[in-house]
Amino acid sequence: MSINLNTVYCPVCKKQQPKIRKPKGWKEILWGGYTCENCGCKMDKYGKERK
Ligand SMILES: [Zn+2]
Repeated sequence: MSINLNTVYCPVCKKQQPKIRKPKGWKEILWGGYTCENCGCKMDKYGKERK
């Protein structure tokens, strides 16, 4: 597993994602990534939307 140290923005609402975040589920623990607190969009650790 690698960590993306670049700032990540939500692909939907462009909200900046926190660098330190709590995983919202096992997939985020496994793969990294973010769930946008603003719109609930799920994205990977590079800020690409996950379908
Ligand atoms: Zn968002």
